[in-house]
Amino acid sequence: MNTTQLTDVLRPARHLFLDFDGPVCSVFAGMPAPDVARGLYESLRPALAPGDLEGWATESDPLALLRSVADRRPDVAAQADETLARLEVEAVALAKQTDGGEETIQACAESGRSVWIISNNSGDAIRAYLADRGLDGAVTGVFGRVPGDPASMKPNPRLLLDALSAASATPAECIFVGDAARDVQAGIAADVATIGYANKPGKAAVLAAAGAVAVTDSMGVIADALR
Ligand SMILES: [Mg+2]
Repeated sequence: MNTTQLTDVLRPARHLFLDFDGPVCSVFAGMPAPDVARGLYESLRPALAPGDLEGWATESDPLALLRSVADRRPDVAAQADETLARLEVEAVALAKQTDGGEETIQACAESGRSVWIISNNSGDAIRAYLADRGLDGAVTGVFGRVPGDPASMKPNPRLLLDALSAASATPAECIFVGDAARDVQAGIAADVATIGYANKPGKAAVLAAAGAVAVTDSMGVIADALR
């Protein structure tokens, strides 16, 4: 997708909703996701029964592990969420920023749009990252997963609906940028159009099939379109 088409999609937007892991940075670039998942698993082991453990020891996606724990052992969901949030705060200190992600945030400020982070990651970790990069003043609101409530994670539209409410905005005044099908699904459920950021081979087709209104492989193109 070229800049002109993205400009058409972005023109009416007064608020940019941005997913965090992908569009802004690679959260687990320095502390690999499988290590984080393993750390979470080890922390939960004392609270788990043998029947719970199947599949969890080898889960490499910490957020998928959190979701599974919340589904099968809701009594330890809050503990798992808190532990993972602590690990994510450590991870973001080593995160790799996405080319064009920071420019996108700055371009919103320059064009009079507000930026809201909508993410399945922990709000504490997101705020720590933004403060570390001097971006906290450029972001109006952070909506990480609701602490203790992993069911709030996308594709649930809850976080987008909370942001819409906080922004006192209609869905038509907002656009969401995300790099996963669950982002597009959450956008559709909240009636917010989603631009797909296809940062890996094969993602463009997945995001388009999910219903993204536009797909790009470059955050820099989104920043240019906003300017
Ligand atoms: Mg993402």
